[in-house]
Amino acid sequence: MAEKVRVRFAPSPTGGLHLGGVRTVLYNYLFARQQGGDFVLRIEDTDQSRYVPGAEEYIYECLQWCGLQPDESPQAGGPYAPYRQSERKELYRQYAEFLVQEGKAYYAFDRPEELESMRERFKTAENPSPQYDHKVRQQMRNSCALTFEETERLLADGVPHVIRIRMPENETVTFTDMIRGEVSFNTGLVDDKVLLKADGMPTYHLAVVVDDYLMKITHAFRGEEWLPSSPVHILLWKYLGWSAQMPQWAHLPLILKPDGNGKLSKRDGDRLGFPVFAMNWTTRKEDGSTELTKGFREMGFLPEAFINMLAMLGWNDGTDQELFTLDELIEKFSIDRVHKGGAKFDFEKAKWFNHEWIKRSEAGSLKSEVRKAMELQGISITDETKLETVIALVKERCTLIPDFVDQARFFFETPEQWDLAAIKPKWNEAKQAFFTDVINYLQQQTSWVPTELEQGFKELAAAKQIKPGDVLLPLRIMLVGGKFGPGVFEIAGIIGKDETVNRIKRVLEQL
Ligand code: GLU
Repeated sequence: MAEKVRVRFAPSPTGGLHLGGVRTVLYNYLFARQQGGDFVLRIEDTDQSRYVPGAEEYIYECLQWCGLQPDESPQAGGPYAPYRQSERKELYRQYAEFLVQEGKAYYAFDRPEELESMRERFKTAENPSPQYDHKVRQQMRNSCALTFEETERLLADGVPHVIRIRMPENETVTFTDMIRGEVSFNTGLVDDKVLLKADGMPTYHLAVVVDDYLMKITHAFRGEEWLPSSPVHILLWKYLGWSAQMPQWAHLPLILKPDGNGKLSKRDGDRLGFPVFAMNWTTRKEDGSTELTKGFREMGFLPEAFINMLAMLGWNDGTDQELFTLDELIEKFSIDRVHKGGAKFDFEKAKWFNHEWIKRSEAGSLKSEVRKAMELQGISITDETKLETVIALVKERCTLIPDFVDQARFFFETPEQWDLAAIKPKWNEAKQAFFTDVINYLQQQTSWVPTELEQGFKELAAAKQIKPGDVLLPLRIMLVGGKFGPGVFEIAGIIGKDETVNRIKRVLEQL
């Protein structure tokens, strides 16, 4: 029987979730669902100095907003709990000690000033920041350079120490990446990474391998920025005797700045005026001040559009199709169609996806978000049915959720201002008289049906020998306030007789 697919998203809770992170979640999720596998969320919080309160809750909220719920997580639990690495602390030391016994890792007692002096001593023009590797190893205070007795004594004395991997001097580590194909590294270029820190916490490198093994992860999809760490991980899998269980790797391409020049950063978003995080994130600075980074959600993106857009940043199904539901993505997604090269982020395209998704969405499903946006602007909505009708009528005109505020406000409130400048130049007595007749006509109506109103309005214009085209724009401005909005008689139909008559009167008084 084939092994059950198990994938994981393993974020470190250090801040808001970059859209690249959400895309990693998405590709993991799609693969798991398609293969009938499990999707695990593991919180990698071993670096306590980078831990940011609230970041873990943000991740849960974000996955929930996107509809990409994990099967196993610190919240949901699962057969391999705990899923928060800080709670697994005690588990990792044995593996690090095993590696020391095997000669694949060593104790290092170097103090910060000794590390600093090493960097000074070995600095050259070609190598301005020397790393802790096979070139310097023998000259440092570690169990490779010290005698067995010295090492034992330091350990017995409780001298603070870390455990480092002993990277071979000149070996080639090769693996097959599901996106990149065969990838090779020379181990001599990689430093002796710390595996276990002086406080007993594992580093990411040890913890990720141990947990992927213990949690029976079969496929590890992660951002390309982790590719340089892969030789360390591959060797750890080998040294721990787990090569046969090693997951298949896929390093996902970077999401690039709009001009293609480097990785898209939070700063690019601030500079160019678009979100880079999934949801709003507030950074608390040391001086007590806060900084808000805008998110796609708060900017008015629908999760369906956000997900769809992310899926297409680096993948397509081989056709021209761009709009996909989550179910379609689950069906069509394939890791070998993920591009090797980075994907340029295009905010206009992102908005296009949202516009398309707003058009596709049922008015009812947009209701709560639209209501929130309107209430934020002080427009109170009491009539749910009316709201739904209005949404259906104006959604074609909205790209982001806040666009509904302008497009729908006049259905719920009398305009405060009218674009009289657009009426006045062509205004005359005949039109004034015509609109007075329109008021009478409207007041006599016992039914209130848009098509009938339109017909009545046109007949009245014909009787006065006025071209309907000449009075439709004024009517629109009277009802809406400006030159926009859906069909003017549909608007009249929704706002009702009294309000229609009232608005026409108000404008006539000002002309
Ligand atoms: N904790 C790593 C991160 O923050 C996970 C990398 C991986 O998936 O191996 O991205």
